[in-house]
Amino acid sequence: MGRKMRDGDLVLVAVAGEEHPAIGVILGWEPEDKCYRVRLPGGRPEEVKLGRREVKRLELRDVVKTCWTCGREFLLLAGEQAFCFREGLKLPGRCRSCRKAATATITKAA
Ligand SMILES: [Zn+2]
Repeated sequence: MGRKMRDGDLVLVAVAGEEHPAIGVILGWEPEDKCYRVRLPGGRPEEVKLGRREVKRLELRDVVKTCWTCGREFLLLAGEQAFCFREGLKLPGRCRSCRKAATATITKAA
């Protein structure tokens, strides 16, 4: 019985006392304890040990979102979502060109 998840995989973790599972990132596997080390988002311990039954792979799909700025629909790819979760970032609410425009404005102002 080996490990099912690899380092960097995104998982849904049941958190005691919370209704919704948290999205965690697999940091490693402890063969002796047969558990994963998982990093959970903001404010929670950096690493928690979890039994194999308590973690579930997070399945990401490309989603269509509406841009806050221009109101146009854009595609948020599964890979972009995974990047945000891994880095602990919020999912973008703006389309690519609005994000690019915002970054250019900040750079100019600095
Ligand atoms: Zn936009």
